[in-house]
Amino acid sequence: MMRRPLVAGNWKLNGSRAQTTDLVAASMRLADQHDEIECVVCPPNVYLQQAVDQATGSRLEVGAQDASDHEAGAFTGEVSAGMLGDVGCSYVIVGHSERRERHAEDDVLVAAKFAATVRAGLAPILCIGESLADRDDGRAADVVAGQLRAVVDMVGATGFGAGVVAYEPVWAIGTGRSADADAAQEIHALIRRVLAETDHALAERTRIVYGGSVKVGNAAELFSRPDIDGALVGGASLDAEQFTAIGRAAGARAHPE
Ligand code: PEP
Repeated sequence: MMRRPLVAGNWKLNGSRAQTTDLVAASMRLADQHDEIECVVCPPNVYLQQAVDQATGSRLEVGAQDASDHEAGAFTGEVSAGMLGDVGCSYVIVGHSERRERHAEDDVLVAAKFAATVRAGLAPILCIGESLADRDDGRAADVVAGQLRAVVDMVGATGFGAGVVAYEPVWAIGTGRSADADAAQEIHALIRRVLAETDHALAERTRIVYGGSVKVGNAAELFSRPDIDGALVGGASLDAEQFTAIGRAAGARAHPE
């Protein structure tokens, strides 16, 4: 099956109105020149509306970096997936390791956020990945499979919607140290097997993207592996040239020469 590669930029706590204008303009060009890929930018919440308005009429899509597991009510500071859909977002990153670590998000909360996102009609980008200690202890596969099963067990194949899985080894995020393409492929294949335990078609159609120090220099090698369907890009997504080059490399995966 041909899965359309996805390249998503996670801006984290970075950006301004001016930077949003510039990065969205560059990402719109990328998206419109490469209809073989799907291109998403995920700015901080306060810039989402600006990004959506600017991207209207282009193929660029906009996502949020988090959403509440609740739809409405007394949850000060939170933003629901329904609200994100209301302002024109189509994706939500859930379970990013920075939120798991700094905001004590556990597998159950992440699964609830995933479910709430699908219920609101948006596509979650579920981040899973092992820590360095997990990897050193030989537990990478178990940790990743466990994080994924927590979600699949809660939502089932029908509740997975258009969800995307992002394999993001924690030790590779923002460190400049990417996973080796073969090691990443091994975990991506495992992720697809775990999805297949629930539903074969789900496993075939779900995009599994890699995240963790993706740059121009390593993107093509990662995308050449059969189960690496794109990237979630942090640091390099703040540089229009880098992000565009990574997107082009994903496009080459869709149409290999
Ligand atoms: C991320 O934050 O999802 C990420 C992969 O960051 P970086 O590309 O900077 O490692």
